[in-house]
Amino acid sequence: MKLEQVELLHVRRRLAHPFRISLGAITAREFVVLRGHADGLTVYGEANIDARPFYASETVGTVWEMISEVLLPMVLGKSFDSIEDVCQTWHSIRGHEYAKAAVEHLYWDLLGKERGEPIQQLLGGQGETVEVGTSHSIGSNPQEFIADIKSALEQGIRRIKIKVQPGWDDQPLKLIREHFGDITLMADANAAYLPEHVDHLASLDRFDMLMLEQPLPPFDLVYHKELASRIKTPLCLDEGAHDLPMVENAVTFDACQIVNIKVGRVGGLSQAKLIHDWCHAKQIPLWCGRRTGSGISMASELALATLPGFKFPTDHGIELIQETMDHFVPIDQFELSDAFARIPTGPGIGVEVDDTMLDELAVRRMVIKPSSV
Ligand SMILES: [Mg+2]
Repeated sequence: MKLEQVELLHVRRRLAHPFRISLGAITAREFVVLRGHADGLTVYGEANIDARPFYASETVGTVWEMISEVLLPMVLGKSFDSIEDVCQTWHSIRGHEYAKAAVEHLYWDLLGKERGEPIQQLLGGQGETVEVGTSHSIGSNPQEFIADIKSALEQGIRRIKIKVQPGWDDQPLKLIREHFGDITLMADANAAYLPEHVDHLASLDRFDMLMLEQPLPPFDLVYHKELASRIKTPLCLDEGAHDLPMVENAVTFDACQIVNIKVGRVGGLSQAKLIHDWCHAKQIPLWCGRRTGSGISMASELALATLPGFKFPTDHGIELIQETMDHFVPIDQFELSDAFARIPTGPGIGVEVDDTMLDELAVRRMVIKPSSV
């Protein structure tokens, strides 16, 4: 595998519906797409990170700098026999997982296209479809909130996740149970609670949820462990599941029972698969969380979610059932049917990219060649 040239595109995509979590509302998504060229093939990568560091410490700006100034100069124009060899190149670079994941993704796509195999096959996943759930933002209007969930259920979604924060937890959970009975329900706090909230969090047990996701600060294990000992609802780590050592610590310390893998946050598909393999061997259920980006990252995340440890595969449904705008990877390629999304079967990411629309959405671009680095 040898990449000859890579374009960085800073993309701005409007959202049809603002998405509110405990950290704030998102009305548009900015992220970085990589378009690489290798011996007549076009390959893609994506860092589905934000313009501001509210979910993670990385931003569009930091990944741009890291990819253009550090990572691509290390790999462009060089031949690699495997993804492991690519990743070994930046073994000494600390952090910057979203940037590494985006560059690594170029090589997964390239490996698949050179071999004529989809990424799902390269990862060892199986199945033609994967079940998706939805994630519902913090509501300002209870009627609209309930209507939003009703719409998802009517479209066949069977697993509903809501975002919660102090002051928005009992009320929406009670509303859902009153309106929809014993549907499969989970809540995600994005680390909005503090140790002083442990008593209150334990009281959420009465809503009989599938899981409570990342209630406490990302790197807290002590109070997650305490909460886990006082609640029957399984705890899931998301922001805290930063890498394999952290997952090993959390599981061994009884601070969580479920792990949410975000491909970018853990540094790419290779690291995601390592975490999967460890958790699967320990019978720790997984799911693959979504950060809104494009169909480029969605395609490989859905493929990853077909590995056997992903018991609650993914929450990609919100993008597939809600009308968002500016899809430069047309979402009909995922053919959602009764909450099951089709896994792309073409080589590499397996989906077609509308490069014209991608170019139109780019607010900044840069071309990196071996001679220019
Ligand atoms: Mg989460």
